[in-house]
Order: sequence, then structure tokens, then C-alpha cells
Amino acid sequence: MLTEVQAGPYSIVGVSVGGVYTSLCVPELGAILDIGIAPRSFVGAPHLFLSHGHADHVGSLVTLLGHRGLAGVDPPRVFLPAEIEEPVREGVRAFTLVQGRGRTLDYVPLEPGQVVPLHADWEVRAFRTLHSVPSLGYEFRRRVQKLRTEFLGLPGPEIRARRLAGEDLFEPVIRREFAYATDTLIDVLDREPELCKARVLVLECTFLDDRKGRWECREKCHIHLDEIIERADQFENEFLVLMHFSQIYRPAEVHEILKRRLPAPLARKLVVFSPDRGPLPG
Ligand SMILES: [Zn+2]
Ligand SMILES: [Zn+2]
Repeated sequence: MLTEVQAGPYSIVGVSVGGVYTSLCVPELGAILDIGIAPRSFVGAPHLFLSHGHADHVGSLVTLLGHRGLAGVDPPRVFLPAEIEEPVREGVRAFTLVQGRGRTLDYVPLEPGQVVPLHADWEVRAFRTLHSVPSLGYEFRRRVQKLRTEFLGLPGPEIRARRLAGEDLFEPVIRREFAYATDTLIDVLDREPELCKARVLVLECTFLDDRKGRWECREKCHIHLDEIIERADQFENEFLVLMHFSQIYRPAEVHEILKRRLPAPLARKLVVFSPDRGPLPG
């Protein structure tokens, strides 16, 4: 039932059907992205990132907590838009009462633009996505030390010697590794142009053809494939992962339409997060 794709060093496992359920897990980031369903294999990921409060993205939070309790694993840290912290807390509290058990959760409410350290040299930056309710996307990045351009030709032993002598040879750089933007208008790419520079961009693409036109799609605050094609030159990413396809398309149809419609440069970096045959997942 789960889909698994590879985008460079990152594996993305889960399910995504627009309006029905979206839950991805990226083990290399230790991250679950939304929790519309709670597969038991997600149990070990330490961080959960919620994009917004619609049920197809948060509906299985309590089930995830149950799995972790059963497995003896601590609850994940829950990163979420600050506006929905209290209602989500209340919801979890209510289920804790109903079940007669539960554990304290570590919530990390975020404002757009806020950056939070994750682990080692990794950090996450929240950014505003444009949906019908308060929503965020997340950019996972690494802060690394890079040799300054003027020292690039130096042999290894000399770099070492100069470093030991206290010379400042390195400068900090941010590597934009992985970004997640779902349930949003395409305009998010204008407000956050660096998303198109992330090594991997996971982007929603709810509607694919005229069965739902782009204006109807915009009214629902989602992205239409027409809008992605229109901006084909903008994507500098190594991998563009499209997901959150509407249930009006069968999985094989999703692949066929994308193959037929996407221009070659974009098709080369495309990763389709959907099964390629059979019925819709679930
Ligand atoms: Zn959705
Ligand atoms: Zn939504």
C-alpha cells in the first residue's frame, strides 16, 4: 500500500492522495511529513512536521502516538503552525482522556521564517504556504563549513597546517537539501524563490488536466499542473517530487499525463510520488 521513491540520497515512503490522506516519511531526515494515515513503519522517526490542520494531513496523529506507545518509542517532536498549536493540543488531550492513557508531547509552534536546529548540522526553516487555513512548508538544510574560494587550490597538508596555525580558511554555507510544500497556491514559489534551489523539492500538484481547470484549482488553494509547466524554467532542483494528486485520477493515469505533458528538462528531474498501476492506495 505504501509508495516508496528515491530522490538522490533521500528515500520518501508513504501515501498521498489529495483531500484523502497524505503522510510521508523521510528516514534520512528523521522526519514524518504530515500524518493523514499512520503506517506502523513510521514509528521510529523522531520529528513530525504538520503543514496545516486539515484532516487529511493531521487526522492520524493520535494513531501514530498509539503505535509509538505500543513500541515503547517516545512521541515525536511535533512541529506545526503556531496558529493551530492550541487546537491540536486540545484534540490530543481529548483523545488521551477517551483512551485513559497518553503521554506529554513536545510541540514546536512555528512562525513563517523561523529556523530551528534539528540535529548535528541540520536545521529546519518554516515558510508560509498559501492555503485556506493557516499553513506552513518546511525547508531542511545543513549549515556546513566550506573552504573559501581563494584557498581552493591549496594541497591538503597545507590546509591542515594553516588551520592548526589558526588561520580562518572556511566560511559557513547553507545547503538547501530538501523542501516540502503542500496545500498551497503556486505563488509560494514567488514568495520563496529559494525553494526552486533546494536539492529536492516535494511539491503538491493536485490537478493535472481540464477535468479541473486551473481557476477552480486556485479557488481551492491548490496547484494545477498547467502552473508548474508554465514555470518549468524556474526549477533548478535536482529532483522535483510531485504528490497530492486528486483521486479523480487513477495512478496509471497520473504517470501517463505527467509523461505526456511535462517538458523534457522538467521530466528529467521528475519523481512521481504515486503508485504506477492498480487502484488508488487504500
Ligand atoms: Zn491536502
Ligand atoms: Zn488542505
